Amino acid sequence: MAGIEEVRKILRDLGIEEELLRDDAQLRTHLALDSVDLTQIQVELADRFATRVDLWTEHDYTVRQLADIVGERLPGAGAHREYRDRGWWRPEFLDDLAVSTRVHAGHRVALVGADRTFTRTELEAAVSGCAARLAHTGVRPGETVIVQLPNQVQIVILVLALIRLGARPALVLPALREHELESVLTALTPTVLAVPARHQRFDHLRLAEKLRERHPSVRTLLVSGITGSAGGRVSIDELIEAGPPAPEDVVRHPSDTALFLLSSGTTGAPKPIARTHEALGHVIRTSAAVSGLTPHSVFLAVLPVTHAFAFSGPGILGTLAGGGKVVLAAPEDAAVAMALIERERVTHCALTPALARQWLTASAALGSHDLSSLQVLQIGGARLDESTATRLAEAFGCRIQQVYGMSEGQLNFTRLEDPPEVAFTTQGRPSSPGDETLVVDGEGRRVTDGEIGELLVRGPGVITEYHGSVAAASFTPDGFYRTGDLVRRHESGNFVVAGRVKDVINRGGEKIPADELEALVLAHPGVRAAAAVAMPHRVLGEAVCLYVVGSDDAVPSLREMRTHLEDGGLARFKLPERLIEVPELPLTAVGKTDKARLRDDIRARLHTEG
Ligand code: AMP
Repeated sequence: MAGIEEVRKILRDLGIEEELLRDDAQLRTHLALDSVDLTQIQVELADRFATRVDLWTEHDYTVRQLADIVGERLPGAGAHREYRDRGWWRPEFLDDLAVSTRVHAGHRVALVGADRTFTRTELEAAVSGCAARLAHTGVRPGETVIVQLPNQVQIVILVLALIRLGARPALVLPALREHELESVLTALTPTVLAVPARHQRFDHLRLAEKLRERHPSVRTLLVSGITGSAGGRVSIDELIEAGPPAPEDVVRHPSDTALFLLSSGTTGAPKPIARTHEALGHVIRTSAAVSGLTPHSVFLAVLPVTHAFAFSGPGILGTLAGGGKVVLAAPEDAAVAMALIERERVTHCALTPALARQWLTASAALGSHDLSSLQVLQIGGARLDESTATRLAEAFGCRIQQVYGMSEGQLNFTRLEDPPEVAFTTQGRPSSPGDETLVVDGEGRRVTDGEIGELLVRGPGVITEYHGSVAAASFTPDGFYRTGDLVRRHESGNFVVAGRVKDVINRGGEKIPADELEALVLAHPGVRAAAAVAMPHRVLGEAVCLYVVGSDDAVPSLREMRTHLEDGGLARFKLPERLIEVPELPLTAVGKTDKARLRDDIRARLHTEG
């Protein structure tokens, strides 16, 4: 958390390499700091935090202990104390929360993949064995490991094993490509990349090798779908076999970063979100409670495991923490999902509205599957419309629970007891009793209830800064996260999402920051000016429409532009669906591109075209 980052920064400024800055590294013994360095640290602490620490006692401080002292002096320390006093933050570790066999029966099935099934005891053993093997390959506590794997058992075991080892997995969507990965690697300086050899016709291993050449911090590639380990490549399939117990001497603290999620981003590159054990544990417990998860629940994970909705909101970790069973499937095939619901007696599933619409079509075509086990379909990531909600409830004969949340940590759910008219038309209320929510106008003043404004959130599950303190403007001085979403409070107390302040296109639940796309479009020699806006789409909800002003060169066609962007390493889901050439972009009174007019323009064109 903040304390540890502050201390690491001071130590890095002293020239200590990131790899050495493990939480349990002792300042004098392990880091070999001399008297001048120790004095320098004391001066920095006194200066920045008005904290006097005597580093010359008998006791040799670890990085973590120093961070705890600093943490007490940081803004927000009072709130942290309250979160702990109220039991919102607990002294627990995420891997124990998910797979411990102390509370839930070990013989019951906990994880089902395409060709492997693990009981809870087997899962615990696989996590432990994987942690031991990772340690053997040289992965150390405090190191960051990029995990970009598809929905297979390997990812669940690997992530939990890394957490057990005190290393920090960063969950990256398999759809991200060179352009996005480049910025993630620069922000996180990982030592290891975990990728599939190939997935969905893309050669991940080749890209990982290229990135390793460019980023000297990367030592090792963990690869699924290969056999044997050589040349700095280690087979993940071999890592996850049950094996020796995990190393016991790892020093961890509940306020340590357990893992990184990535922001879907308002601006530019995805930003790392550091999630501590205690804060994410709170999100998992509170969201599991409002989702009605019990030891008998069966959760089907079809959205990418690397997205917070499927992973921890409550998703996989919430289900495992409650003693239930997780079934993994790929999102592409609704027919496979239906068959799995029948075979595994699935009770819960999380979908985006776009995927839910595909399921509706598939269920009508497939008719014959027994889906009677389904209790709750959670729909989130983008706004669900009332008619789709109604059709889903009819087709699947289960409750529809809307989820409106963000990887930054605040989650809203309609409640299972909400009447259909509320559950179908609102996006829910906070799952955490500690969440504070404000709806404000452009000047930051609270609007009256029922009026539209931007949602600001603060609470025990919500971050108060991005890793590396980037994009500080996303937070208010008193620690609220500015969601960039326009909402109004419904009379039920639930929020209705009305739109966005931020310039993001929500393509079927996948977010595309307009400025990132525009910057790459402008790099094309045939383009002088460009604006990307959301265009209504029957299945996806929104798709990408590019307005382009040509330069002297020939203006690229849609096909040429898509090739240009893909060659630039952009994730494929961000490629535009339509390109419209215009002589000039319309401007607002202050001279900014008038995107509202462009959105109206594309809507009108689509309407005319029928
Ligand atoms: P992510 O961090 O990728 O989960 O994206 C979070 C953003 O997705 C939110 O800030 C919203 O803009 C959008 N979002 C998530 N859930 C919903 C929902 N149920 N309705 C409308 N927008 C949503």
